[in-house]
Amino acid sequence: MIESIKQQILRPELSQLQAYAVADPGKMIKLDAMENPYTWPDSIKSQWLEHLSQCEINRYPDPGARKLVEVLKHLNPIPDSHDILLGNGSDEIIQLLLMAARPRATILSPHPGFVMYRQIAVSLGLNYQSVSLQPENFSLDMEGMLAAIKQHSPAIVFIAYPNNPTGNLFNRDDIVQLIEQCSGLVVLDEAYAPFAKASFIDQLSQYPNLLVMRTVSKLGLAGLRLGYLLGHQELIQELNKIRLPYNINTLTQITSEFALQHQSLFTQQTDQICQDREWLHSQLAELPQIQPFSSSANFILFKTAQGQADELFHALKQQGILIKNLSPQGQLLQDCLRVTVGTPEENQIFIHTLKAIITSS
Ligand SMILES: *Cc1c(COP(=O)(O)O)cnc(C)c1O
Repeated sequence: MIESIKQQILRPELSQLQAYAVADPGKMIKLDAMENPYTWPDSIKSQWLEHLSQCEINRYPDPGARKLVEVLKHLNPIPDSHDILLGNGSDEIIQLLLMAARPRATILSPHPGFVMYRQIAVSLGLNYQSVSLQPENFSLDMEGMLAAIKQHSPAIVFIAYPNNPTGNLFNRDDIVQLIEQCSGLVVLDEAYAPFAKASFIDQLSQYPNLLVMRTVSKLGLAGLRLGYLLGHQELIQELNKIRLPYNINTLTQITSEFALQHQSLFTQQTDQICQDREWLHSQLAELPQIQPFSSSANFILFKTAQGQADELFHALKQQGILIKNLSPQGQLLQDCLRVTVGTPEENQIFIHTLKAIITSS
């Protein structure tokens, strides 16, 4: 019975997909998910709780999250012709964009890239295509990208800037060229903007097919689930037709409004993380058989000796440190692990443990 339901009722694409797997960290040092390791000072925490205590939890949220939208517009000035769409994390915005694309449209993105583009595109029956990055430095293969644009006329091109899981920022002129050559939408996913100090928001008025996506997750508010998309108001208006009316809950709205008024706190934390990223990179570079790639985000991708990634990953896990093993994804990620920048103490424990594992094997 269940087998026939799966075969005859559900989308055929689902049988080929795996649910997005998240490891249970238990009490481990958690360096797998690009979270900001810092919390708030007690004084700010108590102000926040004061705000929360005034919210009317018996009422539906404001469906337009108007106050929060004002705060975000203040922080990210956009042209009058443009507007903002909020999502339950930027993951939901990716889903909204893909739901809005015409049936069987082609979706293009460089590979390796953020896995949700493919996951959601495939689940919706769209034609997902990718073009490999250059193996030596993970830069865009412009010839390949332009050829794919010409061949498939993609409805949407997703580009993470900086890229996850490689950590690098693609060449700006290359991206401009893609935006100019593509008749579909180009979504610049700026999830790691707080660590990169680079953005395409200033190009929005220039290119009507450009959309810039941001999230508060990597900034330090991953638990809230808030992402936002900046783009031409007529496109945002269309996307709003398929957005569920109360997708941003009251607690998230109130907390985000409050938190985003304390920008200096986040700036201080992200500056610290960027500084520690450089320390972590230099320490990784000194380890035998480890090749770290340079990063403009809050994580570092590194290559291990051939065939060693799984073993190192499991040995670290055994010793209470959770990072991300990308090696099973193969191709350019063969032998690669990814570590999120933690607190200085966490980074030290990670380096110390990794060094001990490598030198004892
Ligand atoms: C983490 C991440 C996201 C998802 O962000 P949420 O707002 O937490 O859903 C989107 N894009 C990239 C490139 C990411 O790394």
